Amino acid sequence: MSKQSKRREALIYHAKPRPGKIQVVPTKKYATQRDLALAYSPGVADPCLEIEKDVRNAYKYTNKGNLVAVISNGTAVLGLGDIGPEASKPVMEGKALLFKIFADIDVFDIEVDTNNIEEFIATVKNIAPTFGGINLEDIKAPEAFEIERRLKEELDIPVMHDDQHGTAIISAAALLNALELAGKKIEEVSIVISGAGAAAVSCTRLYKAFGAKSENIVMLDSKGVIREDRENLTEEKAEFASSRKIDTLEEAVKDADVFIGLSVKDILSPTMLNSMANDPIVFALANPDPEIDYNLAMDTRKDIIMATGRSDHPNQVNNVLGFPYIFRGALDVRATKINEAMKMAAVKALAELAKEHVPEQVNIAYGETKLSFGRDYIIPKPFDPRLIAAVPPAVAKAAIESGAATTAITNWEAYQDELYE
Ligand code: NAP
Ligand code: MG
Repeated sequence: MSKQSKRREALIYHAKPRPGKIQVVPTKKYATQRDLALAYSPGVADPCLEIEKDVRNAYKYTNKGNLVAVISNGTAVLGLGDIGPEASKPVMEGKALLFKIFADIDVFDIEVDTNNIEEFIATVKNIAPTFGGINLEDIKAPEAFEIERRLKEELDIPVMHDDQHGTAIISAAALLNALELAGKKIEEVSIVISGAGAAAVSCTRLYKAFGAKSENIVMLDSKGVIREDRENLTEEKAEFASSRKIDTLEEAVKDADVFIGLSVKDILSPTMLNSMANDPIVFALANPDPEIDYNLAMDTRKDIIMATGRSDHPNQVNNVLGFPYIFRGALDVRATKINEAMKMAAVKALAELAKEHVPEQVNIAYGETKLSFGRDYIIPKPFDPRLIAAVPPAVAKAAIESGAATTAITNWEAYQDELYE
């Protein structure tokens, strides 16, 4: 399909038969005067008063417990940059659609017209009573770090900036499995992270939580290796500054076991790839074009284990494997936050699922004949119906064990059955 006809198809998809991708649908009867008297005045006053007595009753009488806000100010939208709140709306509506189809979570997409950190935080805080969770989306770094940190502190519902943690969770699952295939240990491998933005920082933090060692990590930004002796480093970059006296990607990747690209296209050359250690793990995640072209990388090294952000190659690191299920698990135990333990539980559940026998319907959905754990299949596929039963229970359990849950699940089998429905 030509670029022009792809564009046309995308525009028509969004415009017809009605503009946009989601709508609001009533969940109660509304056929009679009696129904309406219950739905609205006077019947509605009773749940209002119950909630006034105890705000937790909002979970019982309103949609709060299954409603997530996808909130953006449009400052870092996809690879498109700062395109403003209105222009970010198709992305937020798209996210709403994914939440709904994969985890039956309802979403209001909210586009906020401010680049000011305090204003943004105040806006989200002020509308938080409506929601059971907050998914921050496509907000520019470093502002996004401060916004998320503050909102997590100041709100008692789960808040997650998906551009940071979604990528971290999925890529960490892929990394654990890639390391297993390469026969290497996360505590021992040397890791090069190209990029020091929202995604890179959060990925690196999570890899460290799984055992990666600071002294084995080199991070680069647009100026080169982030060295300890560089001046004016942001707090986040300083956290990953290296003591090694090197400056370039070329120097950094020599003998490295892992390359994680969260930066820009075409910066990893075949020569650099050839200089990496045996069974190099290369996650070239820049979208839409990776740090090294997939086919070029595969032609360069036969022993490579590669992932990209693209759906047209094996091992797509796709956030949709994470956020619907993480919020599902968090909402189902009314978690007050999404903490490290919950994220790590999601990682392990995803990694484990990739090692299980793949059902036929997944093969069919992807036009494959025999997907099975190996170099071309290190993470589950988005249309895998087992995800909903595998990830939310793991997240919910971790929430309970780590003290983030405010309600318990006692019958796990019944919970899993519910998830499948
Ligand atoms: P971001 O916050 O804007 O960060 C981009 C980072 O890349 C910045 O730290 C920037 O350096 C650095 N950079 C620019 N040119 C570079 C170069 N030549 N070498 C090394 N680093 C360079 O963006 P982000 O949200 O983290 O996303 C970064 C990339 O990852 C994008 O391409 C995005 O599409 C991709 N991504 C993919 C997935 C996925 O596959 N699932 C998920 C998230 C993000 P400075 O700090 O010096 O400006
Ligand atoms: Mg995003």
